Amino acid sequence: MEPTKFLKIASEKISNNPHSRLSLLTTGLLNKPDCIIDIHTHIFDEKCLTVAYILLRLLKSKIFESIGLELFSSDSLIAKKEAEIYDDLEIKTSDVEGEWQRLENEIESLVEIIEPIELFGFDLKEAFKVLKKQSMLEVYDNYIDNFSILKLPEFENRPFIAGILMMDLETGWGIKPEKKLFQQIIEIKQILLQRPIVPFLPVDPRRADHNDPNENLYDLFLSAFTDPETPFFGVKCYPSLGYLPSDLRLDPIFQICAEKNIPVLTHCGGEIVSTFKKSIQVCDSTGEFEFTIPGDSRTERAKYLNDPELWIPVLDKYPKLKLDFAHFGGDTNWKNHHESGKNDRITTILKMMKNPNWKVFTDFSFNVVEKELFNAFGKELNMNPDISDKIMFGTDYWVVLPAGDLLGMQKEFLAQMKDHQTTLLQSAPLNYLIS
Ligand SMILES: [Zn+2]
Repeated sequence: MEPTKFLKIASEKISNNPHSRLSLLTTGLLNKPDCIIDIHTHIFDEKCLTVAYILLRLLKSKIFESIGLELFSSDSLIAKKEAEIYDDLEIKTSDVEGEWQRLENEIESLVEIIEPIELFGFDLKEAFKVLKKQSMLEVYDNYIDNFSILKLPEFENRPFIAGILMMDLETGWGIKPEKKLFQQIIEIKQILLQRPIVPFLPVDPRRADHNDPNENLYDLFLSAFTDPETPFFGVKCYPSLGYLPSDLRLDPIFQICAEKNIPVLTHCGGEIVSTFKKSIQVCDSTGEFEFTIPGDSRTERAKYLNDPELWIPVLDKYPKLKLDFAHFGGDTNWKNHHESGKNDRITTILKMMKNPNWKVFTDFSFNVVEKELFNAFGKELNMNPDISDKIMFGTDYWVVLPAGDLLGMQKEFLAQMKDHQTTLLQSAPLNYLIS
């Protein structure tokens, strides 16, 4: 679909009232004064992903930091280097089932090796168990039943809503999951009828070049947001998968998001899920061109693409746009903050949040399993009361599972942030979602 046609239809068909994009179920809970919100969760199952994605995520997990890879034979999936995994991404394996089975066996044997030493094995197994669920609904239910704050006695029985963030790895990494993005959208719409969620649609400028309505960025956006029964609520960006937020192909999307009060959430944390390419196609007012991503390594290039300052032209153009920098800069930056008392990226995000012309938010998801970061975060909360209504609680379920004890750490985190619980869990996310 052409951008001009998209803008016309979207302007006419999408309401600027965010309440109209909530399901009946979600509205009922959100209207209750004690409703609490986890703004950042994922419920994709193995059919939305590939073995390669899991391997890349696992390599980042603490287990691999702590045990090293020498334990594995050279043909082991787990022992593969990142670049090798990436090379495999585009090979369409004829035996998807077999590959998952092989990975499961390797993880089983890994758990046997490290269980006596570390408890982390439990969490890795949990993450894999989540993946093996048959549907996203089951993955969601597993979250509510085992890992959400509703399992903590102090939050039991509270009305609860989860932000569900989708990812477009199909475009970002060129992987071929069993469930295509448009099929995942349909499945999420079904869940909207049964569970209180606010789903976020992933956008990627490269999809603007597709002709097939099942693949095209603007067609997918309209199919997600103009469904009166089960509309999507927000938009998810992941620039480190290989694009700039200022790419002109995204401009119509942000124009509509600003006009219609649709919140945008962008990954602004770790670099592990990022493009392996050194240059990307970018579209600006001069046309489309090849852009060499600054940086000498994949991590540095991802860091560049995740830079919050790349959003400045977008925010200048659309000051009404509500934008959440997810993970508040990420755990590496918070570790640095913890050690040195400050951190450039965190300072940048804080500064952007304080700009009175913009509506910039953040969430502390993923970092909630890392206890050593709580003091630094608490300090910033205390020092910046003027923006406390823009700092949100989030978990990053389920990708956070191998990184730590999610439920136990949430308990500790919320106990330590006692004075800020209401803003983190209620007023800030409400402000972001429906103000
Ligand atoms: Zn996430």
